[in-house]
Amino acid sequence: MNLQSALEFSHTILKDNITAGETVIDATVGNGNDTIFLASLVGKTGRVYGFDIQQTAIDTTQQQLLLTGLQAQTTLICDGHENISKYVTNQIGGAIFNLGYLPGGDKTVITHGKTTIQAIKTLLPLLRRGATICIVIYYGHPGGNNERQSVEQFATKLDQKIFNVLEYQFINQVNTPPRLVVIQKR
Ligand code: SAM
Repeated sequence: MNLQSALEFSHTILKDNITAGETVIDATVGNGNDTIFLASLVGKTGRVYGFDIQQTAIDTTQQQLLLTGLQAQTTLICDGHENISKYVTNQIGGAIFNLGYLPGGDKTVITHGKTTIQAIKTLLPLLRRGATICIVIYYGHPGGNNERQSVEQFATKLDQKIFNVLEYQFINQVNTPPRLVVIQKR
């Protein structure tokens, strides 16, 4: 098999792990690619909660969901993922974060370590056994490296009796290719 990019590998893991009917989280909706992917995995009996602080991202994704017929199982919320606990309290079958800025959008609106970690902390107790949080870390932009370090430091300290944590990256590629951190509830 060919080695997959960080994003491709995150999808492979989520696809293998999520079953129809589950509740899952897209913590950074952006242009909606991950939301659509998750909505197709959980099917009409499941639910995707998608979060983004930019209304333009929510609107674009809503359009895509309508076009693909996946809107019924999706709830899009224009709020920061640090506030997930206001909206989701039940068990989840997985989550994805795509850190950085909205492709094609305002490059100064970025995710930040503090709020990203707050969101991850909220999700950890909601994970069912075997479920994963996939964090795709783009960090070539200003502020990105700080966020990467914060997330990696946080994930490194998670109790190995409760979570398996891995990092996946190409170490010979130029231009800071994204890294993937995966947290799995054992
Ligand atoms: N997954 C997206 C896709 O498939 O197109 C790309 C996501 S993009 C790299 C990062 C997104 O995170 C941006 O749309 C940005 O507005 C959003 N964002 C930034 N801070 C956020 C926060 N605190 N909560 C939720 N979303 C946030």
